[in-house]
This record gives sequence, structure tokens and C-alpha cells, in this order.
Amino acid sequence: MTTATQTTAKRVLDIRNAPGRHWVGDGLPVHNLFGYNGPGVAARSPFLMLDYGAPYDFGPTTKQLGVGQHPHRGFETVTVVYSGELAHRDNAGGGGTIGPGDVQWMTAGGGIIHEEFHSPGFAKSGGTLEMAQLWVNLPAKDKMTPAGYQPITAAQIPVVDLPDGAGHVRVIAGAWDEAKGPARTFSPITMLDVVLSAGRTAELPQPEGWSTLVVVASGSASVNGTESVTGPAVVTLSTAGQGVTVQAGSDAKLLLLSGEPIDEPVVGYGPFVMNSQQQIVDAINDFNSGRFGQGLN
Ligand code: MN
Repeated sequence: MTTATQTTAKRVLDIRNAPGRHWVGDGLPVHNLFGYNGPGVAARSPFLMLDYGAPYDFGPTTKQLGVGQHPHRGFETVTVVYSGELAHRDNAGGGGTIGPGDVQWMTAGGGIIHEEFHSPGFAKSGGTLEMAQLWVNLPAKDKMTPAGYQPITAAQIPVVDLPDGAGHVRVIAGAWDEAKGPARTFSPITMLDVVLSAGRTAELPQPEGWSTLVVVASGSASVNGTESVTGPAVVTLSTAGQGVTVQAGSDAKLLLLSGEPIDEPVVGYGPFVMNSQQQIVDAINDFNSGRFGQGLN
């Protein structure tokens, strides 16, 4: 372990401000921070897609808002709820409610059909929904792994205070300080949910050779010396170097995503992300012919 003064800072490759909201189904208004097409895909590997649902107020309803059953293959979906409550159900037997501070880590693997709605309780009362969904790639050798579901409750996620009351870090996956995140992953990943107070600085070093993204969900922050970045935005850092220094301009809610890059082709089509066009054709055919299993009823 090198000391902080010997750490080379990771270089800032890209700063991307989120576009306006779009709706996923009729219940998830999100800003898309990045996807699996276009420039920067390799620099973000193994992270494929990130939607951030900034706070949005829903009135009470008896309707089921969200997105009805749909398939996935070839990666994992990670849903983080900050406020409100979602309900999930899939045809591999996974399901449950995801409330404030909870995380759902779902492995689509070789194929899953699932639905993502507001929970009945949240729909009935109404309130503020704030959430994020991250897609994490699977290595080629694991893309057809059986589907899986990890319900991770807030109580299972270690919270580490930053020095001098600057904020805190929740360790969802990987390690931070002495704490280890509960998520089981197929490739080495760090996922930290960071809250940093205005004017304060956090050192969040990540391994040499790992892709590293600092997502400013809300508030504003400077990352490795950039100008202040106002959320929702994502800063992509180099694999080279280790140092990640974040200074909050205003109270900031951040996600730090870091991982060993998966150096394999990324070919995606809608809810399928594979390594070749033929595998996409196979996924569509397999879904249409029922090889993802029974749909939900
Ligand atoms: Mn989905």
C-alpha cells in the first residue's frame, strides 16, 4: 500500500451532464447518465448503463405505476432506492420490496423476465420517489449463468463515517476502509454510496487499472481538480492512477463506481447485452420461443 502522498491521481477523461428526464414505463422518471452505446463504453467497463431518478413527487393512486414484465440477458441490474418504495417480481422466483437505503442486485444471466413497479403501499400513500438503476456487465463466461437475486437491505450495508464529520460512505459492493459490501459480484467491483457535506473533501482511492466513475447525483462537486460539476452528472476517470479526490461544492449525493474492466466486445440491443450480433439474435429467438421460461401472471 502506498501512502496518500505517493498516490498518482486518476486522470479525468470525460464529464457528462445528464440530459432531461425520460420515463421508463409510467412510473420511473429518470435521467440517463450513460448507456452501452457510443463513445466511452470501454472506459466505463464493466458498467453498462446508469439511470438516475431524481426526486419526483407522485400523488396517491390505486394504479400500478412502473414497468411491466420484460426480459433481460447477459448482465446484472442494480436498483438503489433513496426515497419511496419499489416492488419487484421475476420468473426465477426473486422478488420483494426495495425501500429507502435498500439495494436490489439482480443477475439476469442467461435469461430472466421481471417487472418493476411502485410498491402498493407507496402507491397508496404517494410521496417522493428517488432511485437509481445501474447495469453491470457479466464476463463472457458468465453471461449464461442462472438468474439470481440479492435483496440487500439498508441494515446489511456498512456505513463508514468520513473523517471530521465530512459525510459518510455506504459500502454496497467491494471494500472501503475496513468495511466490505454485501453484494456478490462476478468481476471485482467497488460500489459506494457517498454523502459529502458542502465544502468538504473525501479521498476515495481506487485500484490501479480499474475503470472509475464518480456520479454526482445531486448537489455539486469537483473531482480530481475539475471545475464544479452539478448533478446529475458523471465524471469518468482513467484506469491509470489510484487517487480520487472529491470536493463538494454544495451538499452532494454521489455514487462511486469502480471495477476491473471486462475487455470483451459489448453488443447490446434493448434489454440484452452480449458479445456478438449472433448472440443478440439468439437472445431474441430464445425469448420469443419461451426459453426464458414462463412469463409472470
Ligand atoms: Mn428491467
